Amino acid sequence: MREKLKALAELQNVDLEVASLRKAADVHPRQIAELERELGVARSAIEAERARVTDMERQKAEREQNITDEKDKVKKWEARLSEQRSTREYSALAREIDIAKKANLTMAEEQVELIKQLGLAREALKGKEADFGTKQQGLSARMAELRGKLGESEAQVKTLEGRRSGVASAVDSNLLRRYEVIRKKKLPALVGVVAGTCQGCNMNVPPQLYNNLRTSLGTDVCPSCNRIIYAVEALQETPAAAK
Ligand SMILES: [Zn+2]
Repeated sequence: MREKLKALAELQNVDLEVASLRKAADVHPRQIAELERELGVARSAIEAERARVTDMERQKAEREQNITDEKDKVKKWEARLSEQRSTREYSALAREIDIAKKANLTMAEEQVELIKQLGLAREALKGKEADFGTKQQGLSARMAELRGKLGESEAQVKTLEGRRSGVASAVDSNLLRRYEVIRKKKLPALVGVVAGTCQGCNMNVPPQLYNNLRTSLGTDVCPSCNRIIYAVEALQETPAAAK
C-alpha cells in the first residue's frame, strides 16, 4: 500500500512542478503583449509625425507650382497689355495684373513661413526618430528576453512531461485513473490528512477512516472534497504504524 502511495506522490510532484512552471511562465505572454502594445503606440506617434512633415512638404511643392503658374500668367498678361485698344480694357487688365501680383506676394510670404515651419518640423522629427529608435531597441530587447524565458520554461515542461510517463507507469492503474480524473478539476489531487484534517478542504475526515489510513498506509477518498487522501505519517521515513 505504501509503495503505491509513494509512486502516486512522486507523480503528483511532477505534476505540481509542471503546474508551477506553467503558472510562472503564464505572465510572459501578457508581458510581451504589453510591450508590443507600447511599441505600437510609439510607432503610431512617430508615423503621425512623419505624416505631418510629408504633408508640409506636399503643401510646399504645391504652392511652389502655384507661384510659378501665377508668375507666368502675370507675364502673359503684361505682354498683352500693349495690345489693348481701349483705355478701359487696358486699365481693367492692369488692375487684374495688380491683383494677381499682390496675391502672388502673399503666397510667397506664406511659402517663406511654411519653409521655416518645415525646417523646425524636420528637426523635431529627427529627434523623435532617434528617441523612437532607442525605445524600439529597448522594447525589442526586453521582448526577446521574455521570449527566451518562455522558451526555457516550455523546454523544462517538456522534459518533465517526458519524465512523467515513466513515473506514471509505476502507479497502480486504478489509483492512477482516479487521480487523473481528480487532477483535471483540482491539483493537488492527492492530499495528506494531518491530525484527522484533510489538507485539501480542511474538513475533518471520520475518525474511523483516519484510523484506517494510518494503519493501512494506503489511500482513500475524502468524503468532503473527493480528493485522494492518505495519512501524512505514511510518507514519513519511519511511519509509526510500519514499525
Ligand atoms: Zn478533503
